[in-house]
Amino acid sequence: MIITPIPAFDDNYIWAIQPTQNADAVIVDPGDEAPVLKWLEQQGIGLASILITHHHWDHTDGLLPLLEHFEVPVYGPNNPKIQGISQKLHEGDRFIPAGLTVEFQVIETPGHTLDHLSFYTPDTAEGMLFCGDTLFSAGCGRMFEGTAPQFFASLRKLAELPATTHVYCTHEYTAANLRFARAAEPDNMAIEAAQNEVAKLREQHQPSLPSRLERELAINPFLRAKDAAEFGKLRQWKDNF
Ligand SMILES: [Zn+2]
Repeated sequence: MIITPIPAFDDNYIWAIQPTQNADAVIVDPGDEAPVLKWLEQQGIGLASILITHHHWDHTDGLLPLLEHFEVPVYGPNNPKIQGISQKLHEGDRFIPAGLTVEFQVIETPGHTLDHLSFYTPDTAEGMLFCGDTLFSAGCGRMFEGTAPQFFASLRKLAELPATTHVYCTHEYTAANLRFARAAEPDNMAIEAAQNEVAKLREQHQPSLPSRLERELAINPFLRAKDAAEFGKLRQWKDNF
Protein backbone atom coordinates (compact mmCIF):
# COMPACT_ATOMS: atom_id res chain seq x y z
CA MET A 1 0.00 0.00 0.00
CA ILE A 2 1.38 3.42 -0.98
CA ILE A 3 -0.04 6.48 0.76
CA THR A 4 0.85 9.93 -0.60
CA PRO A 5 -0.10 13.35 0.77
CA ILE A 6 -1.20 15.77 -1.96
CA PRO A 7 -0.87 19.27 -0.44
CA ALA A 8 -3.83 21.60 -1.00
CA PHE A 9 -4.68 25.16 0.14
CA ASP A 10 -2.41 26.37 2.96
CA ASP A 11 -2.21 23.29 5.14
CA ASN A 12 -4.54 20.52 3.89
CA TYR A 13 -3.43 17.08 2.82
CA ILE A 14 -5.52 15.16 0.31
CA TRP A 15 -4.42 11.56 0.84
CA ALA A 16 -3.94 9.24 -2.14
CA ILE A 17 -4.04 5.49 -1.51
CA GLN A 18 -2.62 3.05 -4.06
CA PRO A 19 -2.39 -0.73 -3.73
CA THR A 20 0.82 -0.70 -5.80
CA GLN A 21 2.90 1.82 -7.75
CA ASN A 22 1.27 2.77 -11.07
CA ALA A 23 -2.18 1.62 -9.88
CA ASP A 24 -5.14 4.00 -9.98
CA ALA A 25 -5.56 5.89 -6.70
CA VAL A 26 -8.27 6.20 -4.08
CA ILE A 27 -8.49 9.85 -3.01
CA VAL A 28 -9.57 10.97 0.47
CA ASP A 29 -11.29 14.36 0.92
CA PRO A 30 -10.59 16.19 -2.34
CA GLY A 31 -11.21 19.79 -1.29
CA ASP A 32 -9.70 20.96 -4.57
CA GLU A 33 -9.59 19.01 -7.84
CA ALA A 34 -6.60 20.89 -9.34
CA PRO A 35 -3.75 19.40 -7.24
CA VAL A 36 -5.34 15.94 -7.51
CA LEU A 37 -5.62 16.07 -11.32
CA LYS A 38 -2.06 17.37 -11.56
CA TRP A 39 -0.73 14.59 -9.32
CA LEU A 40 -2.66 11.86 -11.18
CA GLU A 41 -1.27 13.17 -14.46
CA GLN A 42 2.29 13.25 -13.08
CA GLN A 43 1.89 9.64 -11.94
CA GLY A 44 0.27 8.64 -15.24
CA ILE A 45 -2.62 7.03 -13.38
CA GLY A 46 -6.38 7.43 -13.01
CA LEU A 47 -8.80 7.73 -10.15
CA ALA A 48 -10.29 4.53 -8.68
CA SER A 49 -12.69 5.93 -6.04
CA ILE A 50 -13.18 8.74 -3.52
CA LEU A 51 -13.69 8.75 0.26
CA ILE A 52 -15.30 11.72 2.03
CA THR A 53 -15.12 12.24 5.81
CA HIS A 54 -17.43 15.27 6.27
CA HIS A 55 -19.22 18.09 4.52
CA HIS A 56 -16.76 20.98 4.87
CA TRP A 57 -15.83 22.66 1.58
CA ASP A 58 -12.09 22.08 1.99
CA HIS A 59 -12.83 18.32 1.96
CA THR A 60 -15.51 18.22 -0.74
CA ASP A 61 -15.22 21.08 -3.28
CA GLY A 62 -13.13 18.99 -5.70
CA LEU A 63 -15.59 16.10 -5.67
CA LEU A 64 -18.00 17.05 -8.48
CA PRO A 65 -15.20 18.39 -10.74
CA LEU A 66 -13.31 15.08 -10.33
CA LEU A 67 -16.46 13.15 -11.24
CA GLU A 68 -16.52 15.08 -14.54
CA HIS A 69 -13.16 13.47 -15.37
CA PHE A 70 -13.66 10.05 -13.79
CA GLU A 71 -16.86 8.10 -13.24
CA VAL A 72 -16.01 6.45 -9.91
CA PRO A 73 -17.77 5.40 -6.70
CA VAL A 74 -17.80 7.94 -3.87
CA TYR A 75 -18.11 6.73 -0.28
CA GLY A 76 -19.14 9.14 2.47
CA PRO A 77 -21.65 10.38 5.03
CA ASN A 78 -25.41 10.30 4.55
CA ASN A 79 -25.64 14.10 4.36
CA PRO A 80 -27.76 15.76 1.64
CA LYS A 81 -25.41 18.79 1.81
CA ILE A 82 -22.78 16.72 -0.03
CA GLN A 83 -23.55 16.13 -3.69
CA GLY A 84 -22.01 13.19 -5.50
CA ILE A 85 -21.88 10.51 -2.79
CA SER A 86 -22.89 7.20 -4.37
CA GLN A 87 -22.49 4.99 -1.30
CA LYS A 88 -23.79 6.47 1.96
CA LEU A 89 -22.15 4.92 4.99
CA HIS A 90 -23.05 4.43 8.63
CA GLU A 91 -21.41 3.23 11.86
CA GLY A 92 -20.16 -0.34 11.56
CA ASP A 93 -20.44 -0.54 7.76
CA ARG A 94 -17.58 -2.35 6.06
CA PHE A 95 -16.62 -1.76 2.46
CA ILE A 96 -13.76 -2.33 0.05
CA PRO A 97 -13.16 0.92 -1.87
CA ALA A 98 -13.02 0.40 -5.64
CA GLY A 99 -9.34 0.10 -6.58
CA LEU A 100 -8.26 -1.55 -3.31
CA THR A 101 -8.48 -5.04 -1.85
CA VAL A 102 -8.50 -4.04 1.82
CA GLU A 103 -11.70 -3.63 3.79
CA PHE A 104 -12.43 -0.36 5.61
CA GLN A 105 -14.61 -0.05 8.69
CA VAL A 106 -16.81 3.01 9.13
CA ILE A 107 -16.61 4.77 12.49
CA GLU A 108 -19.06 7.62 13.08
CA THR A 109 -17.09 10.38 14.82
CA PRO A 110 -19.41 13.37 15.40
CA GLY A 111 -18.04 16.46 17.15
CA HIS A 112 -16.22 18.60 14.59
CA THR A 113 -19.33 18.14 12.41
CA LEU A 114 -22.33 15.89 13.05
CA ASP A 115 -21.85 13.93 9.80
CA HIS A 116 -18.17 13.14 10.38
CA LEU A 117 -16.97 9.62 9.50
CA SER A 118 -13.56 8.05 10.06
CA PHE A 119 -12.29 5.13 8.00
CA TYR A 120 -10.19 2.39 9.56
CA THR A 121 -8.62 -0.68 8.03
CA PRO A 122 -6.79 -3.38 9.99
CA ASP A 123 -5.89 -5.08 6.68
CA THR A 124 -2.43 -3.55 6.37
CA ALA A 125 0.66 -4.44 8.42
CA GLU A 126 -0.08 -1.95 11.18
CA GLY A 127 -3.55 -0.56 10.42
CA MET A 128 -4.53 2.78 8.91
CA LEU A 129 -7.00 5.42 10.06
CA PHE A 130 -8.28 8.29 7.91
CA CYS A 131 -9.86 10.59 10.47
CA GLY A 132 -10.46 13.86 8.58
CA ASP A 133 -10.78 16.77 11.00
CA THR A 134 -11.70 14.68 14.06
CA LEU A 135 -8.22 13.81 15.27
CA PHE A 136 -5.11 15.83 14.45
CA SER A 137 -1.62 15.06 15.62
CA ALA A 138 -1.45 16.55 19.15
CA GLY A 139 -4.89 18.08 18.67
CA CYS A 140 -8.42 17.69 17.37
CA GLY A 141 -10.80 19.59 15.13
CA ARG A 142 -12.83 22.56 16.32
CA MET A 143 -16.21 21.67 17.78
CA PHE A 144 -18.43 23.33 15.16
CA GLU A 145 -21.55 21.17 15.37
CA GLY A 146 -21.25 18.59 18.13
CA THR A 147 -21.15 18.68 21.92
CA ALA A 148 -18.23 17.90 24.23
CA PRO A 149 -19.69 14.51 25.30
CA GLN A 150 -20.22 13.60 21.61
CA PHE A 151 -16.72 14.63 20.54
CA PHE A 152 -15.15 12.96 23.58
CA ALA A 153 -17.00 9.69 22.80
CA SER A 154 -15.77 9.87 19.19
CA LEU A 155 -12.16 10.25 20.34
CA ARG A 156 -12.58 7.33 22.78
CA LYS A 157 -13.60 5.11 19.84
CA LEU A 158 -10.44 6.06 17.96
CA ALA A 159 -8.28 5.62 21.10
CA GLU A 160 -9.40 1.99 21.30
CA LEU A 161 -7.96 1.07 17.90
CA PRO A 162 -4.65 -0.84 17.93
CA ALA A 163 -1.77 1.37 19.11
CA THR A 164 0.24 0.61 15.95
CA THR A 165 -2.41 2.28 13.74
CA HIS A 166 -1.08 4.92 11.35
CA VAL A 167 -3.13 8.09 11.67
CA TYR A 168 -3.75 10.13 8.51
CA CYS A 169 -5.14 13.55 9.48
CA THR A 170 -6.10 16.15 6.90
CA HIS A 171 -4.26 19.23 8.20
CA GLU A 172 -0.65 20.14 8.93
CA TYR A 173 -1.42 21.67 12.34
CA THR A 174 1.01 19.57 14.37
CA ALA A 175 3.55 22.25 15.37
CA ALA A 176 0.86 24.67 16.59
CA ASN A 177 -1.00 21.85 18.33
CA LEU A 178 2.19 20.82 20.15
CA ARG A 179 2.64 24.37 21.47
CA PHE A 180 -0.80 24.09 23.04
CA ALA A 181 -0.12 20.54 24.27
CA ARG A 182 3.05 21.81 25.98
CA ALA A 183 1.00 24.47 27.78
CA ALA A 184 -1.66 21.93 28.77
CA GLU A 185 0.87 19.35 29.99
CA PRO A 186 4.12 21.18 30.84
CA ASP A 187 5.67 18.10 32.50
CA ASN A 188 5.00 15.70 29.60
CA MET A 189 8.44 14.99 28.13
CA ALA A 190 6.96 13.11 25.15
CA ILE A 191 5.46 16.40 23.95
CA GLU A 192 8.84 18.14 24.10
CA ALA A 193 10.45 15.27 22.15
CA ALA A 194 7.66 15.44 19.54
CA GLN A 195 8.19 19.20 19.18
CA ASN A 196 11.85 18.61 18.32
CA GLU A 197 11.02 15.86 15.80
CA VAL A 198 8.30 17.89 14.10
CA ALA A 199 10.48 21.01 13.93
CA LYS A 200 13.14 18.99 12.07
CA LEU A 201 10.61 17.53 9.61
CA ARG A 202 9.06 20.94 8.90
CA GLU A 203 12.49 22.54 8.37
CA GLN A 204 12.98 19.95 5.63
CA HIS A 205 9.48 20.71 4.27
CA GLN A 206 8.37 17.17 5.17
CA PRO A 207 4.85 16.43 6.45
CA SER A 208 4.58 15.67 10.16
CA LEU A 209 2.02 13.01 9.21
CA PRO A 210 1.00 10.26 9.38
CA SER A 211 1.18 9.94 13.12
CA ARG A 212 0.67 6.72 15.04
CA LEU A 213 -1.99 6.09 17.62
CA GLU A 214 0.47 5.17 20.38
CA ARG A 215 2.23 8.49 19.79
CA GLU A 216 -1.08 10.38 20.00
CA LEU A 217 -1.96 8.58 23.23
CA ALA A 218 1.31 9.98 24.64
CA ILE A 219 1.17 13.57 23.33
CA ASN A 220 -2.42 14.50 22.47
CA PRO A 221 -4.17 16.26 25.39
CA PHE A 222 -7.60 15.78 23.79
CA LEU A 223 -7.10 12.02 23.49
CA ARG A 224 -5.68 11.94 27.03
CA ALA A 225 -8.60 13.86 28.59
CA LYS A 226 -10.20 11.79 31.37
CA ASP A 227 -13.80 12.76 30.68
CA ALA A 228 -16.04 14.93 28.53
CA ALA A 229 -15.83 17.86 30.98
CA GLU A 230 -12.02 17.90 30.82
CA PHE A 231 -12.19 17.57 27.04
CA GLY A 232 -14.63 20.49 26.83
CA LYS A 233 -12.37 22.72 28.95
CA LEU A 234 -9.35 21.89 26.78
CA ARG A 235 -11.29 22.55 23.58
CA GLN A 236 -12.45 25.94 24.85
CA TRP A 237 -8.93 26.87 26.01
CA LYS A 238 -7.44 25.85 22.64
CA ASP A 239 -10.03 27.94 20.76
CA ASN A 240 -8.59 31.02 22.45
CA PHE A 241 -4.95 29.95 22.66
ZN1 LIG B 1 -13.74 20.26 8.74
